[in-house]
Amino acid sequence: MVDGDSIAKMHSKCYNEHMFRKETISVHLPNRKHNRRAYRRAKRKLKHLGMHKDSKTVMVATLSTRRCERITKYCREAHLRYFWESKLSRRSSNYRKKFFDSHKPAVFGCYFCAYCGRLVPRSKVTVDHLYPIGKMRKDLKLQKKLKRRGYSNINDPRNLVASCHRCNQAKAARMGSWIRKGRLGRHPIYWWIRHCIRMVLLLIILCFLWILPAVFVS
Ligand SMILES: [Zn+2]
Repeated sequence: MVDGDSIAKMHSKCYNEHMFRKETISVHLPNRKHNRRAYRRAKRKLKHLGMHKDSKTVMVATLSTRRCERITKYCREAHLRYFWESKLSRRSSNYRKKFFDSHKPAVFGCYFCAYCGRLVPRSKVTVDHLYPIGKMRKDLKLQKKLKRRGYSNINDPRNLVASCHRCNQAKAARMGSWIRKGRLGRHPIYWWIRHCIRMVLLLIILCFLWILPAVFVS
């Protein structure tokens, strides 16, 4: 029997693991020659937040997620460029295997491309991250949005879709309509219905083309 206290402890453990694991962040300092005061102010503040100088213009640190968030907040306020490679947004080495384990082929070992509906054999399928890794790295709002939706990280099977090489190249780091297409197209039933409707329409057109001349002749 699991009591309320142990559930609370489990939640607090997960929260602590998330908030206190170490992540690397780097920040570009303002140009020293152009704005000496801003350079000194940023350097002092970042040092106070636990960062150290990596080169003349870059400060780095490996800190907990919470402290990285404090640094990014300061960077946004001070208009400083930063790069934070969160573990949430790192490409895993086994995401292809994860995808094939959780998604079965639609027909005879082939997958529908989530963007164009073409059937692609498993050996030629490219597994695409629906929300792109590059965007996820830079966009804290997107990271929070996916966390709210229950995604464990960018390689969560719900963020992976099968695609043909052409669509994968065309999509690249784009979002917008590609996300809508991908979210619909990852369900094989969507393509079955679409292809059926297309076949029915084609049959109707062929019937008309076949019947109409016969009507005119008679
Ligand atoms: Zn495609």
